[in-house]
Amino acid sequence: MSTGTRHTAYGYRYPELGTWNPLNEYLCSMIAVDKTLISDDILNVRFICDLEKCHGACCVEGDAGAPLDEEEISILEDNIDAVKPYMVQDGIEVIEKNGVFDYDMFGHFVTPLVHDRECAFVYFEDGTAFCAIEKAYREGLIPFTKPISCHLYPIRISGYKEFEALNYHEWPICDQALKKGKVNNVPLYIFLKDALIRKYGKEWYEKLLLTIEKG
Ligand code: SF4
Repeated sequence: MSTGTRHTAYGYRYPELGTWNPLNEYLCSMIAVDKTLISDDILNVRFICDLEKCHGACCVEGDAGAPLDEEEISILEDNIDAVKPYMVQDGIEVIEKNGVFDYDMFGHFVTPLVHDRECAFVYFEDGTAFCAIEKAYREGLIPFTKPISCHLYPIRISGYKEFEALNYHEWPICDQALKKGKVNNVPLYIFLKDALIRKYGKEWYEKLLLTIEKG
């Protein structure tokens, strides 16, 4: 769940990126569904976003914008005129100057930032960050809710030749979400049901539930 666009906190989660191999993290503890490997964290971590406490910090903090799929760039380009009225002026200027996407330190597509901080698509209401793309979607103006990486956060997907790996991205700004999730006993794969179905489909999600039930 999210208000909007997710940043990537490389500095926090992956301090030793030079030698770090994400495969080590998955292969020691994961389940397989079709061509996906799912970290046990996604079954075990309890999580519910608590916007009143975090104020949508994931749209503001971090070292890079939210990951974008290539096809999402075209969708954003096609719909940007409907999104702009909900964006702040600085965000509009960044988009008009540089386009709807940028590159992270690995050359992957990400949303652009304003002043190297918040996502260009962020706007604020009473000090809480929200997503202008999602706002335009909720107003019925565009067919696209928001980048899938934002929808799936704090699950991050890494693509490999034969499979995709789904991992929990732990970030202290979400600590209150862990508390709320624990109180309500909601695991990540339930909290993010809609986003997971959007990404992989209903059949995949039902297989995930069956695999979890079988233990
Ligand atoms: S709890 Fe974390 S992921 Fe959820 S809105 Fe807050 S900062 Fe973003």
